[in-house]
Amino acid sequence: MKKATRQQTKVHNRNLVLHTIINNESVSRAEIARITSLTKTTVSDIVADLLEEGLIAEIGVGESLGGKNPILLSLLPDSRCLLGLDLAHNQFQGAIVNLRGQIQKKASLPVNDRDGNEALALVYEILDQLIPGCNLPLVGIGVGTPGLVNTRDGVVVDAVNLDWHDFPLAQLLKDRYHLPVYILNDSQAAAIGEYTYGKGHIAESSLVVIHVHHGIGSGIVINGHLFQGDGGGAGEIGHVVVVSEGGLLCRCGNRGCLETVASAQAIVRRIRTLANESYSNSWQDPAHKITLDEVERAYNLGDPLALQVVSESARYMGLAISGLVGILNIHEIVLSGDMTSFGRPWLDTIVDTMQHTSLSRSVQDTRVEFGQLGANAVILGSTAVMANNYSLLFTGQPTQAEFTYQ
Ligand SMILES: [Zn+2]
Repeated sequence: MKKATRQQTKVHNRNLVLHTIINNESVSRAEIARITSLTKTTVSDIVADLLEEGLIAEIGVGESLGGKNPILLSLLPDSRCLLGLDLAHNQFQGAIVNLRGQIQKKASLPVNDRDGNEALALVYEILDQLIPGCNLPLVGIGVGTPGLVNTRDGVVVDAVNLDWHDFPLAQLLKDRYHLPVYILNDSQAAAIGEYTYGKGHIAESSLVVIHVHHGIGSGIVINGHLFQGDGGGAGEIGHVVVVSEGGLLCRCGNRGCLETVASAQAIVRRIRTLANESYSNSWQDPAHKITLDEVERAYNLGDPLALQVVSESARYMGLAISGLVGILNIHEIVLSGDMTSFGRPWLDTIVDTMQHTSLSRSVQDTRVEFGQLGANAVILGSTAVMANNYSLLFTGQPTQAEFTYQ
């Protein structure tokens, strides 16, 4: 193994100290030395640098364990800002986020079926709206987009709805804004968001977030690291075939994919079809274009057709999750995206189906729950990637660091 250079050791130690301060509400220099096994002098030098950078502050004194009362240090969450984008189907959303994942300002624009360069113009418009609202050092731009993404090169390999193919989004944004840029698949971003900021899941170091919105995808975090697979497409659960015969054609070219029966789009389409076949329910006006919001309202009012269709979709989700749990043996499954608005009955049907379609013992130990971040999961995940990449937080170094998720 190659020996670390002095510079590498210095950066490693600095990151270790910063990590310790971030992970504790407040902590003294002596405690940092104890936790990191670094010498007190090294810790003091690094803390001096962090104070000078304005990333941390001395916030008071702690209890004495004999001797002088120690000075407590804490992260200054509002010392930097990060920009996060969620390029969701109907609406692009963006936000300024601080170092603790708190949203400072939000903007959103309707997509109205725009794609290609028009969709790119919309991305610019949101960023142009947000950037003047950030008066602190701006760490970078994180983008969660649907589709297959090459995160290392910042290229959207294939996003059908946006008509982006081998689209160099990171480079385009870097050229325009001169900031580091990270592009992630939206479900993978949601997974990092929930992993980093979703309190309540933090006991587990591995989790799978299934993002069920217009499409369906998942993000897999294993031992604290995002698992992207060999080609970046790990977690494409939306295209697992769950209807073996007579399934609907999916946008991927196959038939009977999970997305064709369990996504928000699938539910709306199914209700439209069934409503056209039946004249005995409240959906009968064929000229009316049914929306997901309407399905949700009808579902909450106990409309039999909405109940039937949503419950059918939940059973397919349960079936797919059962397969996933059987393979990965991960105990924490988190659901995010539009479909979570169908609430507890939807979730309970998923869990029930999962338990009844798997022989795997690991299913019995699996928790399936809603995400903690709601509609902000993708935005917060795309910024968490940068907040966790400490080299980006130092003002003298506006460089595009290697993509690593710590
Ligand atoms: Zn498919």
